[in-house]
Amino acid sequence: MEELQQIMDEEQNITKDTDFSLVQVKGTWKRQKASCHGHKGRVSAAKICESTSSHAISWTVVSPITFTYTVTQTHDLLNPSNDTLLMGHIRDPKQLEDLSSSTKPIKRFVVMDETVYNLYGSQVTDYFRARNVLYRILPLPTTEENKSMDMVLKILEEVHRFSIDRRTEPIIAIGGGVCLDIVGLAASLYRRRTPYIRVPTTLLSYIDASVGAKTGVNFANCKNKLGTYIAPVAVFLDRAFIQTVPRRHISNGLAEMLKMALMKHKGLFELLETKGRFLLDSKFQSTSGLHGNCSDPASVSTRLAIETMLEELAPNLWEDDLDRLVDFGHLISPELEMKILPCLLHGEAVNIDMAYMVYVASESGFLTDVERIRIIRCMLRLELPVWHQALSFTLVQKALNDRLQHCGGLMRMPLPIGLGRAEIFNDVRNDTLYKAYEKWCDDLGPGSEQ
Ligand code: NAD
Repeated sequence: MEELQQIMDEEQNITKDTDFSLVQVKGTWKRQKASCHGHKGRVSAAKICESTSSHAISWTVVSPITFTYTVTQTHDLLNPSNDTLLMGHIRDPKQLEDLSSSTKPIKRFVVMDETVYNLYGSQVTDYFRARNVLYRILPLPTTEENKSMDMVLKILEEVHRFSIDRRTEPIIAIGGGVCLDIVGLAASLYRRRTPYIRVPTTLLSYIDASVGAKTGVNFANCKNKLGTYIAPVAVFLDRAFIQTVPRRHISNGLAEMLKMALMKHKGLFELLETKGRFLLDSKFQSTSGLHGNCSDPASVSTRLAIETMLEELAPNLWEDDLDRLVDFGHLISPELEMKILPCLLHGEAVNIDMAYMVYVASESGFLTDVERIRIIRCMLRLELPVWHQALSFTLVQKALNDRLQHCGGLMRMPLPIGLGRAEIFNDVRNDTLYKAYEKWCDDLGPGSEQ
């Protein structure tokens, strides 16, 4: 009867869809109609939908891929008594127990930013020696100018020579955002996906570049043009690294923190307004420790920055949703940054973009003059640039036009609508952009009293 019905349906060109679950029985996976209840065996989260008509048969595979990763704030990461670096990524208690009791040495391939290696290389070596780890450390000049496929291939050649077990021996990246991005891309290519761990050593990478899933390198003079969305298996954060970061690079990281404050958290903005200079001077070192009384500005601000960032990233890890508040400051800045590389650091370019956008928000009536002045003053106290001669109105238009093309014809411009609140706008007019540009130049350009 069923067959007869199917033939009749096909003759009438009726499409018939059947959803199948996948059930594992005695080691093999079998399709079973999803409508059947009480599947016996292990049921996969994947589904297959079969669609038949007189013209064709097709199978649509729905295979959910889940990324699970842990971001851990710790201290004394390089103290041999701290297990985090070697085992912090393992969530399965049985696997952890097996590894702890095994006599086989643990193997780790580590890529370190060259500067970071000069400062912390001996501590990393001591750590691995004390823990009887079979290791290879590869120090590399991971600068923005070197952020290329050549560097990725160099890492891959060394990984291949050292040979690692793709399932159990994650590659470790220790460095700033450039190092983490390059190593992440190399790991996501090696044997199609090798797990990797991020240990950020700059403020910017601590609160931003390390906590999401993006990897990448520059290509064809375009920022991060090649890359993947593959999350690390773990991120280990230790603020102690930040104490050796040059002051300009602390300001650089503060720009990304300010971004989250302006978009999502008034309290964080007020903290940066009042304690930002102190954080810059003290390089985010605190005496109260990580746990217990965590009320010092360094602990509170980094925690808020990471939490607000994860809130925005976790539901949109692959950036399928193009309406992203985290893009504030990133509409024009990639073009500006690449145009005058290496004059501006990433966060500096982001801040110049944000400063201009604050004027766009103000010109659009979303921010009061008082709010605008408070934001610009806060940026200046964080020692961030708020204007740059290379940002012409032509460049603004070019960058926004490129954005329009990549965003399906909708502008999707995140703008503050108060302190710590924001919305995405699609209809900001060109004359508003121009008026804002003129005022921005008058207020903050050469000859102005900033
Ligand atoms: P960076 O990696 O170039 O590091 C900045 C400088 O600090 C370098 O000279 C480095 O050698 C040095 N350094 C690093 N750690 C140090 C330490 N502990 N002590 C002393 N010096 C140290 O730059 P960054 O600002 O960390 O990162 C910027 C990069 O991050 C950009 O390429 C940007 O595209 C990328 N990024 C990626 C994401 C993402 O989601 N993947 C997000 C934001 C930024």
